[in-house]
Amino acid sequence: MSLLEIKGLTKQFGGLVAVNDLSLSIDKGQILGLIGPNGAGKSTAFNCVAGVYAPTQGQIIFDGEDVTGQNPWDLCKKGMGRTFQIVKPFASQTVLENVMVGAFATTDNRDKAETRAADVLDMLGMGDKKDLKPGALTIADRKCLEIAKALATNPKLLLLDEVMAGLRPTEVDEVIQIIQKLKSKGMTIFVIEHIMRAIMALSDEIVVIQFGKKICQGEPEMVARDKNVIKAYLGE
Ligand code: ADP
Ligand code: MG
Repeated sequence: MSLLEIKGLTKQFGGLVAVNDLSLSIDKGQILGLIGPNGAGKSTAFNCVAGVYAPTQGQIIFDGEDVTGQNPWDLCKKGMGRTFQIVKPFASQTVLENVMVGAFATTDNRDKAETRAADVLDMLGMGDKKDLKPGALTIADRKCLEIAKALATNPKLLLLDEVMAGLRPTEVDEVIQIIQKLKSKGMTIFVIEHIMRAIMALSDEIVVIQFGKKICQGEPEMVARDKNVIKAYLGE
């Protein structure tokens, strides 16, 4: 059964059609990769799914419910966890406190929020950094902090928008391992990533968009060989 279904999603900004009649679905436990050249409409599609933007047309069905047009806060409480492309931690709070902000989306209890946040940080191998301020973290750990904040909301679906951008190859490997670990725990993940070897290693299936439109969908090996995909990237 699919956890997320996007049906005929279109998002216009004035005269610009950023996402154009996009349809796709993600099964429970699956990792779906969304790729495409810069400006293709990937983040806009995510923002429509997560309720940041109301779609111009189309539907978002999440866990069997039509959630089109619902706000990010309600969607978060229903199990949609997301990271943002631009990382913005609260600088004056500790790593643990930052992650607790995520946990407070689904509990009012401070102890529960703290326990959940600490568990998530342990799982991500950041347990020893929980009392640091975000400014003291490496870029890779700051990305993990973003993932931790999203995980602390206890999501059914995790949306990751270019969490590996700016990382060194060994750090990319670490984040790939973290995402694989989440998948092995049954998490459903919708991932935007520009680093091709990461998306190829992680995705069960990949959707490629260009100028807001789907140009290819399939298993990684098939997508990597597709003529339209190669052309779209060469033209970048
Ligand atoms: P990607 O994430 O694939 O790089 P985006 O979804 O960020 O692409 O952007 C798709 C297109 O929509 C781009 O042309 C971008 O300039 C435009 N766009 C994105 N957000 C807005 C916005 N809030 N207002 C106007 N145009 C936007
Ligand atoms: Mg983007």
